[in-house]
Amino acid sequence: MFRIGIDLGGTNIKAVILDKNNRILASDTCPTHASDGFDGVMKSICGSVARMQASLSAQLTDSGDISPDPKEAAFSPASFCGGMTVPGQICGPGGPVLYAPNIGWHDVDPVGYLRDHLGISFKLANDADAIALAEAVVGAGADYPSILMLALGTGVGGAYILDRKIFDGFGLFGGEFGHIPLVHGGRPCPCGITGCFEQYCSASGLARIAREALEENLKACKDSTDHGDACRVTLLWDLCGHDPERLNTVHLFEAAKKEDPTAVRVLTDFFDHLSEGITGLVNIFRPGAVIIGGGLAEAGDALFIPVNERVSRMTYGSSYIPAPPVLKASGGIYTGAVGAALLQEA
Ligand SMILES: [Zn+2]
Repeated sequence: MFRIGIDLGGTNIKAVILDKNNRILASDTCPTHASDGFDGVMKSICGSVARMQASLSAQLTDSGDISPDPKEAAFSPASFCGGMTVPGQICGPGGPVLYAPNIGWHDVDPVGYLRDHLGISFKLANDADAIALAEAVVGAGADYPSILMLALGTGVGGAYILDRKIFDGFGLFGGEFGHIPLVHGGRPCPCGITGCFEQYCSASGLARIAREALEENLKACKDSTDHGDACRVTLLWDLCGHDPERLNTVHLFEAAKKEDPTAVRVLTDFFDHLSEGITGLVNIFRPGAVIIGGGLAEAGDALFIPVNERVSRMTYGSSYIPAPPVLKASGGIYTGAVGAALLQEA
């Protein structure tokens, strides 16, 4: 059985076919064409599947595994099953999709469409879950049966993979780690409460906190009559080209590397918050490893060394059983598609 994985994004569709050893046999990327509506997107997906099947057929023909004529070959829809990620809310692996705002979907049935048009059985998953599954089975967490994944990007996406299966929770609303209340009376979150993990630890949240720190620093320097170190303008000001809206987390790590006091203070708070959130999750789930993905993971050792030190120190019972390592996700453009294919058994 070949497993097809479709990673449906707002801009592009990325797709793979895996063999039974989870190797990628074929891959394809094409535009989503979300403005063409549900049927237009599904046609793009079917086109992607057809191109990969043709590529696979050619490979198998060359290797002598099947008859030269793909139509006669043991290459029927029954040879395939698949999985698909959806950037929205689904009603379980069989669908339907309740809504996917980025692509304008409301109450649609992609599993039914793919069954009717390709004769292939598909399962659906949320994209964060699929990425975590790929990291758990073939990525940075492959040495551990159970992992916890956090993607630090616009928000904090997350998933817990228990024995290489997605742990969804009741109503598929589990794994919303970004909305753990972390700071009492803290920053407001669009989810409706205050102090959520992602307000402090997402890349967007961290950039916002850095911008506030920059503006406070500029104000303090302006107000100060002392022109010594106490009112030294932070390096962040030059790094963002004197436009705080352009300040990002790369600037923050760069300034901290040069021991800029404002950047060091913002990052120290960030490491504390992130480590407290991770330690709370570790004390509940005790995974084999915690995998960090998303843009912030690119900070590398500057992030992973202080966070591992804190998590190791704070984790319950870590003097008896070491805390799980916090590792960088292996990533790759087809990770979501591979995770979608892994929704099906080999
Ligand atoms: Zn929230």
